[in-house]
Amino acid sequence: MLTVGVNGYGTIGKRVADAVRTQPDMTLEGVAKTRPNFEAERAVAKGYPLYAAVEERADRFAEAGIDLAGMVGELVERADVMVDATPSGIGAENKPLYEEYETPALYQGGEDADLVDASFNARANYAGAVGADHVRVVSCNTTGLSRLVAPLEAEYGIEKVRATLVRRGGDPAQSGRGPINDILPDPRTLPSHHGPDVKTIFPDLAIDTLGLKVPATLMHTHSINVTLESDATAEAVRDLLRDESRLFVIPKRLDIDGAGALKEFALDAGRPRGDLWENCIWGESITVEDSGASKTHRDGGGEAAGNDLYLFQAIHQESDVVPENIDAIRAVAGTADATESIATTDDALGVGFPAERS
Ligand code: NAD
Repeated sequence: MLTVGVNGYGTIGKRVADAVRTQPDMTLEGVAKTRPNFEAERAVAKGYPLYAAVEERADRFAEAGIDLAGMVGELVERADVMVDATPSGIGAENKPLYEEYETPALYQGGEDADLVDASFNARANYAGAVGADHVRVVSCNTTGLSRLVAPLEAEYGIEKVRATLVRRGGDPAQSGRGPINDILPDPRTLPSHHGPDVKTIFPDLAIDTLGLKVPATLMHTHSINVTLESDATAEAVRDLLRDESRLFVIPKRLDIDGAGALKEFALDAGRPRGDLWENCIWGESITVEDSGASKTHRDGGGEAAGNDLYLFQAIHQESDVVPENIDAIRAVAGTADATESIATTDDALGVGFPAERS
């Protein structure tokens, strides 16, 4: 059994903690928080040992009537692997703590790539993190792009990716974030940081990314154009993507028109917190055209092939990195290879919508 500690119990940390608890080969040693609040109370109610992340603030937990299992250093000492899910930049400050106890640590996408030995996406470069001490699970957007690039690259080769990322302004509970009535090119310069970040996973990939921020909290939406090295048909691409466990090709018949309906679909399916761990790709958006000249194929338009692929995908920023964190735990611990780990994670968590795959 791998013992896992989670430092930082917010949007990502609480989901990773829950996911660890579902895995047959892992136990949750505990979670560390800076302050008592509703999430701390829920953690205790679930039976998670709670540790104080900041020693000077430990008294606040006692004042709120919450028993602590100890200080974060004790959690780090006890855990085989630590998952740091603190806000951007705090992971870097915590690195010496993990080094002090020689506990391998995972960091999240808000940290710089040069903090770690390897940036991680399970589908694309699992082996690169095996046995590493410090690994960064790339951001929600980079995870979404990497999962899509990996099978396309393997099947057709990729000449160039162009992606426009329409990003949610903040997570649902981040009431201070914006914009509240605007559409912001963000950044206004090219490329957005996402393209270079994808290159931490695929160093040789040609990719340009543009970013916008909009008044939404539910999901990001990506508008994607991939110029492939060899021709494909839309149907062949659809089949290829359907075979990937963490890509959900949304069937047209479900009549899901956006992020709101997707979240409702996830809640109806009984997903915890309405989470969508998969990239959600609109099946009818998958279109292939001839890059040089006239259009050769649109959805339902026959089997004509081309090498310019277009599609829309939605990414649930709060949860797509969760299965990746679970796989990264096994990678740093060296307890499974990529295929085994992905299968175990997906099975235990319930990734995929088998009834909706065709
Ligand atoms: P969050 O603010 O929801 O949660 C972070 C938690 O860490 C909070 O509970 C905060 O109180 C706590 N914290 C602050 N300082 C701490 C410290 N010194 N020690 C321990 N805990 C501390 O943030 P989040 O959205 O979960 O993001 C965490 C990381 O995950 C960031 O790197 C972020 O970029 C990345 N990420 C976030 C999303 C997303 O959409 N929310 C998606 C993918 C990756």
